[in-house]
Amino acid sequence: MTTITWIGLGHMGGPMSANLVKAGHKVRGFDLSQEAMGAARAGGVQTFGSMREALQGAEVVFTMLPKGEHSRAVYLGDDGVLALASQDALLIDSSTIDVETAVALHRAAQAAGFEFLDAPVSGGISGAAAATLTFMIGGATEVFEKAKQFIEPMAGRIVHTGEAGTGQAAKIVNNMMLFISLEACAEGSVLADRLGLDPKVFWDIASVSSGNSWALQTWYPSPGLVDSAAANNNFQATFSAVLAAKDAGLALAAGEQTGVNLPAAEIAAQRFQQLIDEGYGNLDCSLIAKYAAPDGKI
Ligand code: NAD
Repeated sequence: MTTITWIGLGHMGGPMSANLVKAGHKVRGFDLSQEAMGAARAGGVQTFGSMREALQGAEVVFTMLPKGEHSRAVYLGDDGVLALASQDALLIDSSTIDVETAVALHRAAQAAGFEFLDAPVSGGISGAAAATLTFMIGGATEVFEKAKQFIEPMAGRIVHTGEAGTGQAAKIVNNMMLFISLEACAEGSVLADRLGLDPKVFWDIASVSSGNSWALQTWYPSPGLVDSAAANNNFQATFSAVLAAKDAGLALAAGEQTGVNLPAAEIAAQRFQQLIDEGYGNLDCSLIAKYAAPDGKI
């Protein structure tokens, strides 16, 4: 049994930390949201009123935070992980953030004597609950090897992508492809409906045909077809439009830096921004399907 501190117990961090508890580890959690901490306690995580308390005795620290600015604050702040954790703690950031921040965190951790990995994940909240996430991990090989045993209880696949920041690079590209296939599902689901097709008949065809994708299998934006889809639950977020806009923005910034043209990603990014502008930022990103419907009704 290892003492693990988990910071950021939201949609992803909640079920991921619960799987570490199931694997027999002692998990000490902290989140700014009382609601998130309550849900984590139901999964067997012991929660604390401050990061300082949660970090006591930590042999491993995982963070699962919204954006780069949150990871910077949690690691680099005066009351942050680098200031408060024991130096032999292994640090693993599973948030999806920009490569620059990830590399800066590697450098700061190293300068403070810590081992650190960028370890973003793919698989959504259903993958988090089922412990089938794909982890993409940037950092030194020996640190990767050491970390694997703590990641295994949450993972379907664990891939060492290379040096510092490469986990985030893989994740940003992967999500860009997801958003493009989500836009395809958004347009396809509405067009199939307006052509008079029974949604289930069409979904069954696409799911065994060339229209298939992870988005179709997991986030299809039409109710009653896919258990894990937010469409079944009035688009309550499994992955919020705010976070999708953040990740699409990371891909577009990377495209600008490298001179790569990303017109399809631009459309997906505009759709997520439109949701935010219309006040739907905290709802699920699959609500972009409404923009395919001329009357906005899906
Ligand atoms: P979320 O907003 O549900 O959870 C993030 C949590 O971090 C929140 O509970 C928030 O209160 C907490 N937090 C923020 N600042 C904090 C701080 N300073 N100290 C402690 N807690 C703090 O987000 P999520 O959907 O769980 O996503 C987390 C990360 O994982 C994001 O980077 C996201 O892009 C990525 N991700 C999400 C999914 C998904 O399907 N939801 C899938 C893969 C990756």
